[in-house]
Amino acid sequence: MDLSDRLEPVLDSARQSAREVDADGSFPVQALDALRRSGLLGLTLPPREGGLGGGPEDLVEVLSALAAVCGSTAMVYLMHVSAAMAVAAAPPAGHPSLLPRLASDSLATLAFSEVGSRSHFWAPVSRAGREGDKIALRAAKSWVTSAGHAEVYVMSTLAPQADEGAVDLYVVLADSPGVEVAGSWRGLGLRGNASSPMRFELLAHDGDRIGEPGGGFDLMLQSVMPWFNVGNAAVSLGLAQAALDATVAHASGARFQHTGEGLADLPTIRAQLSRIALDLAMARAYVEKAARSLAAPDDSTMLHVLGVKAAANDMALRVTDTAMRVCGGAAFSEHLQLERFFRDARAGHVMAPTADVLYDFYGKAITGRELF
Ligand SMILES: Cc1cc2nc3c(=O)[nH]c(=O)nc-3n(C[C@H](O)[C@H](O)[C@H](O)COP(=O)(O)OP(=O)(O)OC[C@H]3O[C@@H](n4cnc5c(N)ncnc54)[C@H](O)[C@@H]3O)c2cc1C
Repeated sequence: MDLSDRLEPVLDSARQSAREVDADGSFPVQALDALRRSGLLGLTLPPREGGLGGGPEDLVEVLSALAAVCGSTAMVYLMHVSAAMAVAAAPPAGHPSLLPRLASDSLATLAFSEVGSRSHFWAPVSRAGREGDKIALRAAKSWVTSAGHAEVYVMSTLAPQADEGAVDLYVVLADSPGVEVAGSWRGLGLRGNASSPMRFELLAHDGDRIGEPGGGFDLMLQSVMPWFNVGNAAVSLGLAQAALDATVAHASGARFQHTGEGLADLPTIRAQLSRIALDLAMARAYVEKAARSLAAPDDSTMLHVLGVKAAANDMALRVTDTAMRVCGGAAFSEHLQLERFFRDARAGHVMAPTADVLYDFYGKAITGRELF
C-alpha cells in the first residue's frame, strides 16, 4: 500500500510540534488532528468499517516514520491501533458504529495495567460485579496513554463469573460518568503521551463487553499483543534511526580546529557508528520478518511476536546510548535532540509486556514450556 500521501502531512505536523510536546509535556493535539484527517487512524481496520485494510508491514512503516519525528505521537497512535484491533477482533454488540468511528476520528487506548498487578497486564486484580442486568466496573489503572484525551478506553478486569482468573475486556466511552484521570503524567521520555493513572467506577452492559464472557485473556494475548509488540518494535526502530542519523550528521560536521580533523576522522568514532548502524539494520530485518509473519501466520509467528519487541527495544537502548557517547556534550545539551530520542527510547522497554518479561516468555517457548 502506498501510504506516502497520507503520511507526509502527518509527519510535517508531528515534526513541527515535537520539541514543544517534549519540552512542555503537552499532548500532540496538532499531530493527532493530522492523523484524523489522513485516515491513518483506520490503517489496520477493515475497509467495510471505513478502514484502509492495511497489515502489520504498513503499521511498521507508519510507526517507524512517526517515531523518528515525534515519539509521543507514535506511541499515542500505537495505543489507538492496539485498542482498535481488540474491538475489531470481537466488536461489542452495544456499539455497532464504533469501528467506523475508530477508523475516522475517535481516539482509543488501552487501560490494562493495574496498580495491583503492575506490568503483568494479563492479570488484572480488579473484578467486575453483576448488578441486575448491569455490570459494575471498578478499577484503578496505573498508566493509560492518552488519558483524558482518548474518546474510547478498552479496559480489562476480572470477569464477574465464578471462574477466578477469567478476564473480560470492555469498551468504556470517555464521557461515561465514573471515568476519571487520577493523576498527572511527567515521564522521563514520551513526555507528551499523557500516560496518567485513571479510575473507572461505572455501570456497564453486556453489550459493552468485547467478545465472550471470560474471553479477555485470549483477546489480549492473540489479538492485541501481536500488533502492540510489532508496533512497539517499530517505534524503537524509528527512534534509533533518528538517533543514528543525527549522530552521523554531527560526527561528519564537528571539527577540531587545532588538528584539522573531524569527529568522523577518528577510527574509534567510526567503529561506534558502524556498530549501531549494523545493530539497527539487523533489528530492522527482524521487525520486518516478524511483521511478514504476522501478515501470513504460521507456527513460528507467536515466537516472533515474543522476540521482536524485546530485540528492538534493547537495540534502541544500545543505539541511543552510543549516540549520546559519540556526540559528547553536544548530545547532552538539547540542540541535537539526541537526548530526546535517548529518553523516548527507554519507554518501550518498560511498557508491558516488558522486554525482560518477553525474554523470559521467549526462553519458555524455545524450551518447550508453557508461557503461563
Ligand atoms: C510511557 C508509558 C506508557 C504506558 N502506557 C500504558 C497504556 O496505555 N496502557 C496500559 O495498560 N499500560 C501502560 N503503561 C504501563 C506499562 O505497560 C507497564 O505496566 C508499566 O511500565 C510497568 O511498570 P512497573 O513499575 O509497574 O513495573 P514492574 O511490574 O514493577 O516491573 C519492574 C521490573 O521488573 C521486571 N519484571 C516484572 N515481572 C518480571 C518477570 N516475570 N520476569 C522478568 N522480569 C520481570 C520488569 O521487566 C521491569 O523491568 C505505560 C508505561 C509507560 C512507561
